[in-house]
Amino acid sequence: MAEPSRELIICDFDGTISAIDTINYLCTRYTPDVFDELEGRLIGGDLTLEEVLRREIIALRERVDDLPAIAAREVPLREGFAEFVGWVDEAGHELVIVSSGFRQLIEPMLAAAGHDGITLVANDVDLAAGSGGVSFREGPTCTSCGQRCKRHDVASLRADRHPSTPVTFIGDGFSDLCGCREADRILAVGNLAGWLQRDGVPHHPFEDFHDVIALLQGA
Ligand SMILES: [Mg+2]
Ligand SMILES: [Zn+2]
Repeated sequence: MAEPSRELIICDFDGTISAIDTINYLCTRYTPDVFDELEGRLIGGDLTLEEVLRREIIALRERVDDLPAIAAREVPLREGFAEFVGWVDEAGHELVIVSSGFRQLIEPMLAAAGHDGITLVANDVDLAAGSGGVSFREGPTCTSCGQRCKRHDVASLRADRHPSTPVTFIGDGFSDLCGCREADRILAVGNLAGWLQRDGVPHHPFEDFHDVIALLQGA
């Protein structure tokens, strides 16, 4: 069990740590026909997020070689992330990245920016496979959204820590909608901030990780 004063900071990757969503970027650039169809079906509730991600990464794998290198080269991280990682270390908090995306893209992107060794919860894709090779982590179906969403990840990370450990969630989008509500405090950017505002869910908006440090320091 961690010390109670140590905070658990759970952070989404795509569109939060990365300045733009990696899969969205790669799809709009390399497989726009697939992207347009699938995103519409996600928002419309016709396909689950997992099914959309599975189809998107397979389409990309078929048409593009060396996706990790392209992602690491072309998708920037959000301003202030390096300083944030340093601050988390100094303050003695714990940072865990929880992503609905794929480890095989995220780890090279973090490594390219000099960030090895941050705990990462994500899914797996075999980028060399001709078919299949996409595996989503196990977990129960969420009773709220009907999908295997981040709610379970956040709840189980919390359950593994001291009961008084404060939990902060930092996110930007669709994949964070349920998970963020399991935290004590929500920092939101992008669509997530707008949706939480609309639904009257207390949160702290931010633009970059300098804002995040200031918000967490002020707490
Ligand atoms: Mg995101
Ligand atoms: Zn959910």
